[in-house]
Amino acid sequence: SLQSTTTLSNGVKMPLLGLGVYKSQEGTEVIQAVKAAIKNGYRSIDTAAAYHNEEGVGQAVREILEQTELTRGDLFITSKVWNSDQGYESTLAAFETTMSKLGLEQLDLYLVHWPVKVKYKDTWRALEKLYKDGRVRAIGVSNFQVHHLQDLIQDAEIKPMVNQIEYHPRLAQLELRTYCQEQGIQLEAWSPLMQGQLLDNSTLQEIGNKYGKSVAQVILRWDLQNGFVTIPKSTKEQRIIENADIFNFELTSEDMKAIDSLNENRRVGSDPDNFI
Ligand code: NAD
Repeated sequence: SLQSTTTLSNGVKMPLLGLGVYKSQEGTEVIQAVKAAIKNGYRSIDTAAAYHNEEGVGQAVREILEQTELTRGDLFITSKVWNSDQGYESTLAAFETTMSKLGLEQLDLYLVHWPVKVKYKDTWRALEKLYKDGRVRAIGVSNFQVHHLQDLIQDAEIKPMVNQIEYHPRLAQLELRTYCQEQGIQLEAWSPLMQGQLLDNSTLQEIGNKYGKSVAQVILRWDLQNGFVTIPKSTKEQRIIENADIFNFELTSEDMKAIDSLNENRRVGSDPDNFI
């Protein structure tokens, strides 16, 4: 069902599907998108300080809690600390800004957005404190490669529960996937639709036709069957609904392999070893 979850290493349940809100505009656009998603069964929202729309996400959540029978515990809200705020004290301060913008008492998942060299271990210590203080139910990283994770885990008290990475049929991330699975780190796919670049792919279209599903639905289903949490972005209600209609079919292993064969190790986003 739409509310299917994965259990993180600390026992917290995280929805397998969430709404991404990168580039959803602060104000009406993001508020409408979040409300449309939750109204249509989504329970998880992925934002970040860098998206400049945490206030809208928070407002949408408050309106939903007032207007429906859902309670805060039904929802799973993720945010991330931005690169310029990394470091121990500055991360703690950035977290407070995020929480006052969201207007929430507790966050469900807080992520280190990118592995900023020299700083990410201090940033991680701040996340460990926020977790131990009960301010956030789970902590994790984003855009960490195997070597970043090995380096972090060496000194960490708490292992990251999640690694959110660019993942789509053109970027298979095989080594990172194996490592995270071995370490019990839940993988989460960002830009799962390659920001729209895969939607006219003929292999994916042919597979979709067999199941009566769109290319977007085929890709998102492939994410789930590969054990990834997925967070497609849209601000259009029809697409938000379409992207969630992925729990009522199963791709065969041949179709999974055909999708795997599209891998070209190609990114749409920054390279985690060479960003900014
Ligand atoms: P995406 O792969 O989700 O693609 C979104 C775009 O695809 C939309 O703008 C729309 O044009 C199109 N689209 C969506 N659904 C469609 C449908 N059913 N039919 C046709 N077109 C459709 O791209 P994204 O927004 O980059 O990634 C998703 C989320 O991942 C972001 O919103 C954000 O929350 C997260 N993210 C995280 C990082 C990170 O560094 N951690 C980086 C990028 C994105």
